[in-house]
Order: sequence, then C-alpha cells, then structure tokens
Amino acid sequence: MRVVDLRSDTITRPTPAMRRAMAEAEVGDDVFGEDPTVNRLQEMAAERMGKEAALFVASGTMGNLVSLLAHCGRGDEVILGDQAHTYIYEQGGSAALGGIHPRVVPNQPDGTMDLQQIEDAIRPDNEHFPRSRLIALENTHNRCYGTPITAEYTKAVSQIARRHGLKVHVDGARIFNAAIALGVDVKELVADVDSVMFCLSKGLAAPVGSVVCGTREFIAQARRTRKVVGGGMRQAGILAAAGIVALTEMVDRLAEDHANARRLAEGLANIDGLSVDLDRVSTNILYFDVTRETLTAQELVDRLNAEGVRVLSTGPRRIRAVTNYHVSADDIDYALGVFQRALRA
Ligand SMILES: *Cc1c(COP(=O)(O)O)cnc(C)c1O
Repeated sequence: MRVVDLRSDTITRPTPAMRRAMAEAEVGDDVFGEDPTVNRLQEMAAERMGKEAALFVASGTMGNLVSLLAHCGRGDEVILGDQAHTYIYEQGGSAALGGIHPRVVPNQPDGTMDLQQIEDAIRPDNEHFPRSRLIALENTHNRCYGTPITAEYTKAVSQIARRHGLKVHVDGARIFNAAIALGVDVKELVADVDSVMFCLSKGLAAPVGSVVCGTREFIAQARRTRKVVGGGMRQAGILAAAGIVALTEMVDRLAEDHANARRLAEGLANIDGLSVDLDRVSTNILYFDVTRETLTAQELVDRLNAEGVRVLSTGPRRIRAVTNYHVSADDIDYALGVFQRALRA
C-alpha cells in the first residue's frame, strides 16, 4: 500500500549522504571535548546562528531544559506562552527538575504574546514574588499553525527583557522553516536573544539531535546542566556527522515542504466537510477542522490511515498535517484523492 506519512516531520529518516557521513565520522570522547565531528557541528551551528558558541544535545526537549536550567535558578520564573511546546509537551521538566516557576501569558493565534502582557507579567522586586529571569519564545510556533515569528517581534521582546534585566530564550525547533518562510537569514531571527535551540531531527532529517547556541559563558553553563541530566555523550560524532549534512544540505529544501503544505491546504479547502484557514498556512505545519457533524476528527484519521494516509487528530474536530522530506507534490495529490474518498464514504 502506498503510504503518505503526514503525522510529523520527526518521521524523517537519514539521507544516504547522512548514513555515509555517519559511517565515516571521525570521533573522540565528547565529554573531554575531544570529538572533532561534534566540535565541527557546534562551530558550524554557532556561526550559522551568529552566536559565540554551541552545544550538541540529544533532543529538543533536552536543549530547552538545559537552556532553562542554565538561565534560571530554583524559584526563578520563566515567562512563556500558554501554547508553548515547553509549557505543554515537555513534562514540566524545568519545574520538575529545576524548580523553575512558569508564568504563562496567552499566545495569540500567530504564536506571539501581547507585548504589554509580557511586560505586565514581569515581577517587581518584592519578597512575595518569584524573580522573573527569562522570557521564552517559540519559532515557528508549533501549536499556533506553524507560524514564523518575525525578527521585529523578537527584537521588541528582547528590548523589554533587557529593560528589566531578563534573558530571552528561543525554542527554535523549526527556526530554519521560519527563516525560509520569511525570506531572512536565520541570524536575524535570533540576533537579539541570549539563547536558541534548534532541531536537526525534524525537517532537516537527521536521525538524532538538537543544538543550543549562545554566548561562550552561557554554553559553558549549559554544558554543566547537560551533564547533570545525563546528556554528556561520548563518541557522539557518529550523530553529529548527520547533523552537519543536515545543516549543509537540508535547509534550503524546506521551501519544498512549505509549497507542499500549501498545495495540501488548497486541496483540502475544496473538499466538502473540511475547513482550512488558508491565511494561516505559511510553513510545513497545517491544522484543519472536520465540519461534517456526523464525523469526528479521529474517525476521519482512522479512515485515512486504513488507506495509508497518516495524519494526527489534535482535538475533537481538529487535524494536524506536517509535510516533510519523504512527501512529494505527487504524494500530496494522492493524499487529496484519499481525503476525497474518505469524506464521500
Ligand atoms: C519537537 C519540538 C520540541 C522538542 O523536540 P524533541 O526532539 O522532540 O524533544 C521542542 N519544541 C518544539 C516547538 C517542537 O516542535
């Protein structure tokens, strides 16, 4: 059966070039700082983001956690969006392991938080309150339609942070999707922030890993917090080698994923029983609703799955689809045919 897997861009498998690079990678003990391939990936990543230094970590979740632990002490507060991946999908790890208190501000549909609400959330110096220490943004915003967050917005948040002596962290799991969609150098999107995490293992198709970037001082601290959560890896150059291929060969092609997401959205918009907000589709993530009353999102997902088209239901009427390296324009057209049949049935 033909399979079109649109559940996530995390399903991507390493390319032949990645497998070759992994097999041939020069390695050493990275806890001693002696893995030349990890060091090369970290230098490339730092350069790419316009930061002084970088740290290879096992996952995006670990990257956000070690960043928050590096910025904040116990009882300190992080301001973040109510739809943030870090708030919803990371087990509250920064609170559970770091004693970091989350202060939640509502995300708007475009993934931003109202600037005034951010500023109002910053605590005055008073012994009743936790200390505000960090503002965390997410770019692209996963739960807010994969929307890219602009450099201007990020700069405005950073100015608020600086005025109050706070730091800014960006969960940039898909920051390269944002750069491609906005047509800007990724450096511009993080120019004013203190740290950024990005994933190699999503649209960039590496099998494992994320990278945290920031100042030398911040990365030295993140290296410590990575070690305490068990993230010190040894011959990790085997993994970093695929990350280097991801950074050099897989970024520009994200534009194809965005074009395919649009193609899918436009096709779905023409199918009776579905509703898509085309204005919100700008990267590789799209959300749409099942409007036929006799059908739930999960029932439709099950029907599609039986025909090899895989998507996720994220609410009683809501479905998420994510285009990726293994999905071609032809696959999108095939998937649209399967959607049509499933809604006719
Ligand atoms: C996937 C994701 C993460 C976590 O990455 P993992 O590698 O799955 O741990 C963090 N933030 C966002 C926005 C994500 O989409």
